[in-house]
Amino acid sequence: SYRKGGYHAVKIADSFAGGRYIAQKKLGWGEFSTVWLAYDTQSSKYVALKIQKSAPQFAEAALHEIQILSAITKGDPSNTKFVGHLIDHFKHAGPNGQHSCMVLEFLGENLLRLIKYNRYKGLAMTQVREICKCILIALDYLHRELKLIHTDLKLENILLYSTIVPSKDPVRSGTAPVLRRPTASEGTNSNYVLAVNSSEKKLKQKARKAVARISERRGFVEGVGKGGRCLDGIDLRCKVVDFGNACWESKPLAQEIQTRQYRAPEVIVESGYSFPVDMWSFACIAFELATGEMMFTPTAGEGYSEDEDHLALMMELLGKIPRKMTACGARSKDYFNKYGDLKRIRRLKNLSLEKLLVEKYTFSVTDAHEFVGFLCPLLDFDPEKRPTAQQCLQHPWLNISS
Ligand code: ADP
Ligand code: MG
Repeated sequence: SYRKGGYHAVKIADSFAGGRYIAQKKLGWGEFSTVWLAYDTQSSKYVALKIQKSAPQFAEAALHEIQILSAITKGDPSNTKFVGHLIDHFKHAGPNGQHSCMVLEFLGENLLRLIKYNRYKGLAMTQVREICKCILIALDYLHRELKLIHTDLKLENILLYSTIVPSKDPVRSGTAPVLRRPTASEGTNSNYVLAVNSSEKKLKQKARKAVARISERRGFVEGVGKGGRCLDGIDLRCKVVDFGNACWESKPLAQEIQTRQYRAPEVIVESGYSFPVDMWSFACIAFELATGEMMFTPTAGEGYSEDEDHLALMMELLGKIPRKMTACGARSKDYFNKYGDLKRIRRLKNLSLEKLLVEKYTFSVTDAHEFVGFLCPLLDFDPEKRPTAQQCLQHPWLNISS
């Protein structure tokens, strides 16, 4: 992919935008781009530099993403809506062509890595709730204020705030470095701040090294060793990112949207879609955070397609699909007979969501019952009956303390 029309090869310390940004290390990559940690010499902050492949279709996609990111950033001047902001954008000429570059605020690891670090066990319910709140505030903002549909919500597209940054203020008492939540005035995009007594140079250096070590290896923290304080169980904050596939509600782009496992039923039967597709994906994410496993992992089999298996899995867990969807989608007739049953998958094993949580994932009966109370309405087959992000934010489950 490092050829004409493809990725731009970056070396550490390469400079961009006339010397303003200096590449530090590679953070990740996608189908269209590579993403680098860069130092912004103008603001003296770290940023994420997304460098798009250079072929015309990638430049066009970048332009679309820049327009959407600009609207998202402009509408959230106080940066409180849990969406990734655009700081700057420019073009960079390299041996493979002209690359569109986006400068994004620097964030931490994605939620899939968080689940992996947790050995696919699922997170504590308090952490699931904190993450759900951030995503819902983001969705309420995108849907209600901007009329934007994300269309590709999944764990990889939700990033934790960067993990730890050294504090600018010294701690006033004691000399041991203290790990704590950032205060409002620090205004960082960080989940933790490591506060050290700035008068002691050596200690400060030691703390910086510890920060680098922990963020490098873990990406997030359960506790720190010597000299630090354990912050187990602190809430984690995150932001929704990757608006490369987002669209305005009034201008839906593609027929087939969303990553397979997070795809809503109305997309599969092609009965038209809007904001509720994001609410479906959100429910899949909440389930995955709580259990460590995806809610639906469809596969094609002998005599049936991946789409049909997906619908069957949904019906096994959530019951019968209403007539409206088994009859009226552009593709309904391909999958369903006139009784609303799947044509090619006959025997379904019914298992309620609540039972699944208790029996397979060893939830307590109370936890399972409360969680299902939150999830089930979001998994209504009828998109019009699904609660909005605004309604979801009022749900009592989000404020259970345990
Ligand atoms: P693509 O549109 O090509 O899939 P993404 O926007 O999803 O690109 O970015 C690819 C990867 O780069 C992400 O999965 C993540 O690891 C990293 N990344 C993206 N944006 C940021 C950011 N703001 N801060 C830190 N890392 C980021
Ligand atoms: Mg991506």
